[in-house]
Amino acid sequence: SRDQVSYFGAGPAPLPTPVLEEASKVLLNYNDSGIGITEISHRSPEANAILAHTQASLRKLLDIPESEGPDGYQILFLQGGGSGEFSAVVYHMVSLWVGALAKKQQQGIDEAAKRMRLDYLVTGSWSLKASQEAARLIGAEHVNVITDARRCRDGKFGVIPSEDTYTRTGNNDDVALTYYCDNETVDGVEFPSTPSGQNLVADMSSNFLSRPVDVRQHAAIFGGAQKNVGTTGITIAIVSNRILPPHAEMADSKLLRKLGLSVGPIVLDWPTIAKNNSLYNTLPIFDVWIAGQVMQRLLEQAPGDKSPRIATQAAESNKKAELIYSVLDKHSEVYQVVPDKSVRSRMNICFRVKRGDADAEKAFLKGAEGKGLMGLKGHRSVGGIRASNYNAVSVAAVEKLVAHLEEFAKA
Ligand code: PMP
Repeated sequence: SRDQVSYFGAGPAPLPTPVLEEASKVLLNYNDSGIGITEISHRSPEANAILAHTQASLRKLLDIPESEGPDGYQILFLQGGGSGEFSAVVYHMVSLWVGALAKKQQQGIDEAAKRMRLDYLVTGSWSLKASQEAARLIGAEHVNVITDARRCRDGKFGVIPSEDTYTRTGNNDDVALTYYCDNETVDGVEFPSTPSGQNLVADMSSNFLSRPVDVRQHAAIFGGAQKNVGTTGITIAIVSNRILPPHAEMADSKLLRKLGLSVGPIVLDWPTIAKNNSLYNTLPIFDVWIAGQVMQRLLEQAPGDKSPRIATQAAESNKKAELIYSVLDKHSEVYQVVPDKSVRSRMNICFRVKRGDADAEKAFLKGAEGKGLMGLKGHRSVGGIRASNYNAVSVAAVEKLVAHLEEFAKA
């Protein structure tokens, strides 16, 4: 049964049991209407209330500015997963950059557009994928990988190089995007602090709602819901008004095509989604409701107005991660943490058993499963062990894992 299992899957990931219990009721009958939540119209008053509640909760948790002016941020719900946003980001930031260029000059746009650059910080498998998608969409000549962490470590991820080594080229005005992945789910690498860069966009899919974020430093932040936030099916984007109409002018699609640049599908178009309050097309309201319930619980953990209200959860996440890392470090002859100490992820704790000895790792996993500790196998591309320490993983579950780590090391 659910009580007997502690689940450390990397995503989809565990959700709070009370939320799922309530979900099973509203699937049948939402608000005593006799209609299930997945059956109601996404344009109904009920759906609008759910949307507004989830947005308001997220604003409080992460202290997201609400104004309609340039300093405000929109909260969007999109579909297509984190991967869909790899593309959406490119379409949007390119259109924004070309839009600004066209406003400045009418002559010689073709020549000027050649200077446009998208800067990528490649610190793990997901930022690598995002940079590859950018190159696929607009051509590798516009994509500048300003750091590739593998170069510092025998071709493997596990460090975040210092900013003074980044190969930023040309004029700052030509940077349409600086992209980073705040937490690399596969490689267990997390940024200790926000990197700098023009038009900064972050993928926070695997550490969303696990610590405070300085939203104001970002043009946009996005993340799939299926780890810390909710069910698979929605992706949340927090987008600055500065990069949206009416505060910014997007490029005309004819001009983009003329310049040989891509025009994105409308369902990934941030201005369209923003203008329609995420209801351009059918939004999976159930997923938005789940996210709202998860956020509501986080707010209840942190009563009062002290902003950002996510600080309470952050303290718990840190504490759980420390419990696991300290036992791994204590038995360093048995366990080897994959990333460098300075960039260890609090969310995805990646380590090897006996330096990657296949039999030892198999035995570790088998022993864990026998105790109901599930989902610990590392990503297929890197192997090893990965304990994902998302918000719904309880301290008690972490303590069970710690006990297994101790016992296995001693055996
Ligand atoms: N970014 C990160 C950091 C991820 O961990 C993942 C998926 N695990 C993705 C992007 C891709 O998300 P999706 O599968 O929702 O497209």
